Amino acid sequence: MKRKIAMAILLCFTFSFATGCAEKRDEAQNMLNKHAEANLHEMTTFSMDTVMQFTIYHENGEEILTDAEQEIRRLERLFSVTLEDSEISKLNAQSGLGSVKLSADTEEVLKHGKEIGELTNQAFDIAISPVVKAWGFTTDGEKHVPAQETLENLLPLTNIDDLVIDENTSTAQLLKKGMAVDLGGIAKGYASDKVAALLKEKGVTSGLFSLGGNIGAIGTKPNGENWKVAIENPLNANDYVGLLAIQDCFVITSGGYQRYFEEKGKRYHHIIDSNTGYPADRGLLSVTIISKDGTKADGLSTALFVMGLDKAVQLWRSSNNFEAVFVTEDGRVIATEGAANIFAFEGRDNDFKFETVER
Ligand code: ADP
Ligand code: MG
Repeated sequence: MKRKIAMAILLCFTFSFATGCAEKRDEAQNMLNKHAEANLHEMTTFSMDTVMQFTIYHENGEEILTDAEQEIRRLERLFSVTLEDSEISKLNAQSGLGSVKLSADTEEVLKHGKEIGELTNQAFDIAISPVVKAWGFTTDGEKHVPAQETLENLLPLTNIDDLVIDENTSTAQLLKKGMAVDLGGIAKGYASDKVAALLKEKGVTSGLFSLGGNIGAIGTKPNGENWKVAIENPLNANDYVGLLAIQDCFVITSGGYQRYFEEKGKRYHHIIDSNTGYPADRGLLSVTIISKDGTKADGLSTALFVMGLDKAVQLWRSSNNFEAVFVTEDGRVIATEGAANIFAFEGRDNDFKFETVER
């Protein structure tokens, strides 16, 4: 009997102690949440031809976000192919004529572009611009299927080796007249790297931003949980195929489902295969790359989309600095090992099947 009472008291005590703890924990959590909410700052802006959104937690958040916005605009002024006096426009205007002086950022982004080109056997090709333009993708004008002859004339101008960078003088030149560089497949990734570095330098330890769907995560949520990022269903903009739980990395997706036009009932999108001059058509609807390197994630998402699943997986197996999720035309969602660990597949009624690939 005594033992029973003692037990009851002990239980009672343990219980009240535990609830006391829980209350204190809730209180602490509430204070943390309130503190985090007070420091929450958001911004939406339009740059690099796309909508950009930021959420950060920092007491000087507003000021920091203005700095971030200015940084993106600064890069846009250097990289844009639509602004006539950007460094890239100047480089293109001098094609076949001579070299132009580069700022540190333009030199760096061009070097990364060439590197990713080499890594992917030129599936990623920043010199693809003449062909992209022939399709009407970078201009406001009508988009249309170019004549075969036009493509045949332009394809020899897309060799990345004919973009020569001189690191000693910080200059670059395009060797053939009519060549042009287009950073559309890498500029937002590069901007993500720069913006993430800026935010961290200013003391931001928790934040999430999207540069036109290219996600950058700084640290975790203020409460220490991972950020949840959806991978869109390429067949339905209101749906998603799954959620990635991430911290401190970039998640960048490329696909043919957002920017395209139709001609004679056929769809043509904006990611071009430099072997054919036609939109890449290797059985993929989208490729999402998860990496600590935003520039690489952006370049690789475009490149792996061009390469198709088999070659993309081969490249993943020989690398160690990115993970990927592929959505295929035949209804599969395929995650590489490291991506699968942080991915919650959402089958719902979207008919996709989930698979993983191992190293
Ligand atoms: P988005 O910019 O729509 O997020 P991507 O990062 O995949 O998509 O970049 C696509 C852009 O890259 C195109 O609009 C074009 O400017 C350029 N581009 C098209 N094909 C290639 C390619 N094979 N390699 C590099 N850049 C490309
Ligand atoms: Mg890209």
